[in-house]
Amino acid sequence: MLHFSCDLCGCPLNDQRYVVKLEVAPAFDPDELTVQDLEADHLTSVADELHELELNGEYAAVDSGAKSFRFDLCPRCRDKFVKDPLPRETARRPNFSQN
Ligand SMILES: [Zn+2]
Repeated sequence: MLHFSCDLCGCPLNDQRYVVKLEVAPAFDPDELTVQDLEADHLTSVADELHELELNGEYAAVDSGAKSFRFDLCPRCRDKFVKDPLPRETARRPNFSQN
């Protein structure tokens, strides 16, 4: 039997499990070249990436493609998540309104 634990607080999950599915996709054409792309010093950035690869052992590719995430949440964290899905600092923005 599969065992789930909450991805936020780590508590073990029973039948009351909530699944969060997130998808992040570009709202623009990621293949479209911009002036910045053309002006960028690609040799330098490749060298930086190679250096980073040596340091971290992983390649930090520029990724503008779609990404999807899936999280399991307990009822408590689900309540917190639906109130504030993104870690915004709402306390500092008293004029922010949800329309
Ligand atoms: Zn939780």
